[in-house]
Amino acid sequence: MPSDFRHPLPTDLPVMLSRRALAARIRRLAAEITRDVATLDPVFIGVLKGSLIFMSDLIRRLEFPLSIDFLAISSYQGTTSSGTVRLLKDLDHPITNRHVVLVEDIVDSGQTLRYLANYLWACHPASLRICTLLNKISRRAVAVDIDYIGHRFDHGFVVGYGMDYHQRYRNLPYLGVIDETE
Ligand code: IMP
Ligand code: MG
Repeated sequence: MPSDFRHPLPTDLPVMLSRRALAARIRRLAAEITRDVATLDPVFIGVLKGSLIFMSDLIRRLEFPLSIDFLAISSYQGTTSSGTVRLLKDLDHPITNRHVVLVEDIVDSGQTLRYLANYLWACHPASLRICTLLNKISRRAVAVDIDYIGHRFDHGFVVGYGMDYHQRYRNLPYLGVIDETE
């Protein structure tokens, strides 16, 4: 990230996934998830804040009984992971013996997902499935199993559709790239 970076206008950002492309990805994910959990009365757990918009679009494509809950964590300073994951908000309801689908915005190093998966398994769910909108594979440091992936890519720091750079850009209705080399 250049040191003189000053939040360029969203309209200047290269587009990684347009609104239309996002909608198509989410329809496909919803179909895959429906095949697996439609009869299980699952609980979808969103990871705040990045998965907020993805989660809300995804669950509106699911036509079976489900509940939702949220975890809030913090692991990032700017564009690089601080390496430590902190739980800022716990689940509201126990997930013991429930079928859980964890909804993430993006998996990068994998450290956040490993922390979350360990945390959730310790709550004794009946099953745990992982869904991420984006899988950034170039910096993977921790092997993680992901059940549902919206889009894979190698490089670039992405913003929009819930994802931020220094808390900005979450409101962009598409996915833009602010640093293609990152
Ligand atoms: P990990 O622990 O390195 O896998 O980082 C995962 C978390 O970092 C994601 O849940 C995001 O919140 C954040 N993150 C990683 N890469 C990006 C990015 O390109 N844009 C926005 N947030 C990102
Ligand atoms: Mg996240």
